[in-house]
Amino acid sequence: MQKTYPDLPMPQPQLQPRVTIVAPPQMYGKLPMQVTCGNCKNVVVTVTTGENGGCVYLAAVIIFLVW
Ligand SMILES: [Zn+2]
Repeated sequence: MQKTYPDLPMPQPQLQPRVTIVAPPQMYGKLPMQVTCGNCKNVVVTVTTGENGGCVYLAAVIIFLVW
C-alpha cells in the first residue's frame, strides 16, 4: 500500500529585487568634486564640461532609469 501525501504547494522563492550598489545620491555640480568610486574605491575628482551638459545629464538619467 502506498502512502499518498497531499500536494503541498512548493514555497515560491521570493524574487529578490536587483540590488545595484551606487554611491549615495549626490548632486554633482559644475565644480569638480572629489568622490570615492563605488566600484574600486578610488578617490577621483569629477570633471564637468560646459558643452552639451544638459543633454548628457538627461541621457544619464534615462540610462539610469532604464538600467
Ligand atoms: Zn572606479
